[in-house]
Amino acid sequence: MAEAGFYSVATGTDDLDAAKCFLCGKELDGWEADDDPWAEHKSHAGKCAYVQLGKNENDLLLSEFLSVVKQYMINEIKRLSEVAKEQVDEKAKAVQKKCFGRR
Ligand SMILES: [Zn+2]
Repeated sequence: MAEAGFYSVATGTDDLDAAKCFLCGKELDGWEADDDPWAEHKSHAGKCAYVQLGKNENDLLLSEFLSVVKQYMINEIKRLSEVAKEQVDEKAKAVQKKCFGRR
């Protein structure tokens, strides 16, 4: 599974096989013994840049590796900006409630 980009995100006994792609963030669980991690990754997240390369990490050309790193950084910046936006929205709501909450 790791070769197909997945790492464990299990939180307890109910989701022992939960795995997440390091690049696209797709989470999958309920794996069957004969599941092909690459095929599952492709069928559930076909637009993932790592799946589209379709190679194990050690087989990537330098340019391919750098494109994966670039996409990882883009995805991480998007994720962090979403977190920051949610924090700003929460603060804005609190200020709005403070200013206009009592009438
Ligand atoms: Zn992926």
